[in-house]
Amino acid sequence: MFVVLCILLAAAAALLIGTLSNRWYVTIHLNQDKNGSDTVEVGDAYRDPGAKAVGSGTVFRFIRNDHLKVTTSGSVDASKLGTYQLTYSAAYRGAVKTKTRTVRVVDTVAPTIELKQNPDSYTAYGQAYQEEGYSAQDNYDGDLTAKVKSEEKNGVVYYSVTDSSGNVGKAERKIVYDDRTAPTITLNGGDETVLQGTQFQDTYSAADDVDGDLTGKVQVEGSVDTSTPGTYTLHYQVEDAHGNKAEADRTVTVKPQESKMVYLTFDDGPCKYTQQLLDVLAKYGAHVTFFVTNQFPQYQGMIAKEAAAGHTVAVHSYSHDYPTIYAGTDAYWKDFDAMNEVIRNQTGSTTTLLRFPGGSSNMISKEYSPGIMTQLVQQAGEKGLTYFDWNVDSTDANGHPNKDAIASHIIQGMQTHNSSVVLCHDIHPETIAAMETVLSWGQQNGYTFAALTKDSYPAHHTVKN
Ligand code: ZN
Repeated sequence: MFVVLCILLAAAAALLIGTLSNRWYVTIHLNQDKNGSDTVEVGDAYRDPGAKAVGSGTVFRFIRNDHLKVTTSGSVDASKLGTYQLTYSAAYRGAVKTKTRTVRVVDTVAPTIELKQNPDSYTAYGQAYQEEGYSAQDNYDGDLTAKVKSEEKNGVVYYSVTDSSGNVGKAERKIVYDDRTAPTITLNGGDETVLQGTQFQDTYSAADDVDGDLTGKVQVEGSVDTSTPGTYTLHYQVEDAHGNKAEADRTVTVKPQESKMVYLTFDDGPCKYTQQLLDVLAKYGAHVTFFVTNQFPQYQGMIAKEAAAGHTVAVHSYSHDYPTIYAGTDAYWKDFDAMNEVIRNQTGSTTTLLRFPGGSSNMISKEYSPGIMTQLVQQAGEKGLTYFDWNVDSTDANGHPNKDAIASHIIQGMQTHNSSVVLCHDIHPETIAAMETVLSWGQQNGYTFAALTKDSYPAHHTVKN
């Protein structure tokens, strides 16, 4: 009995001590807890994982509730960046507990940059890139186009843009380099007209937007012969380093100089004055025609010099003896052939050009052979020969005029003819002395001194016998 009493007493004492020392408490567990700090991407839905609360006693541990009611306060707006707090609270037998969950709504998505591209657009080599356009969009900030920065480096354009959360969006554009523009050819002067005997200076240039100056690469087809009147076409071509071609044409018209041509002719030589004449002609670069004779055989060698200097050598007469030459047509051609043989010996070839002694209009021949000039003119044509008379007389065979009178006659005559064939004789020293004046005045006034050819103006006289 006593024992029972003692046990009950002890139990009552223990209960009393236990009741006195026991404390009720509440424990809150956050579901899916991440150290009390959750993050959610802005724009995503946020679902609160909630919390669990357990109530129990420090001594009476067997008395507990695992499913306490949890009350939540606070909310999260996941459409707005920020830090939000959710507070959970629960009570148990007078004990109250709260616990907080921090939720950060963040933006970790970088903005995107969209590049516009024109399929026909390209950048010329060596040129800066011309922006084709772009736009930038951010999931939170919206249009960030105005904040895009770009930098061109080694053929690439690097774009970047940073959103308000510090996320960086990037894009790259590889620059398309090309050269699709042809070079340009510039012809200075365009279509030109030049005077016969003058020089045509072909000046042009070519430039390319990428290659720069291409003048040295221009190929020119065709040429201009300024000694022959006519129309010439020059074709220009150039290609740049990328195969773009350019072409151009120009027409050059060479206008005949015939109104200013002077054919000085010297009959009856060569003789002791001929070398002096060759010297003055060489000084002025003038070419003339020598209708040669064999009256001074010791000067035959001058014929070779005349031809070598670029002058025309033609037949005048071997003997220059009128009675002999005009005794008959056979006699004439015999004399002609003899002179042409001298010319062949001196120059290597005969000539088809001649001047009749006294000219085709002479009347002296009538004393020996009436009608002979008419026959000779016709026979010359049949033989393929060309005879020349004159339309300007230096008058050097009429008496002995001084050099000034001779020069004055020649210059006057030159001015009144489109094409002057001037009769002179290199057997008169005054004639040779007059040449300085004639040549210098003529060249200063645009006349061209040329040697006769078979196509030159023949200045024929009227045949009177
Ligand atoms: Zn003569």
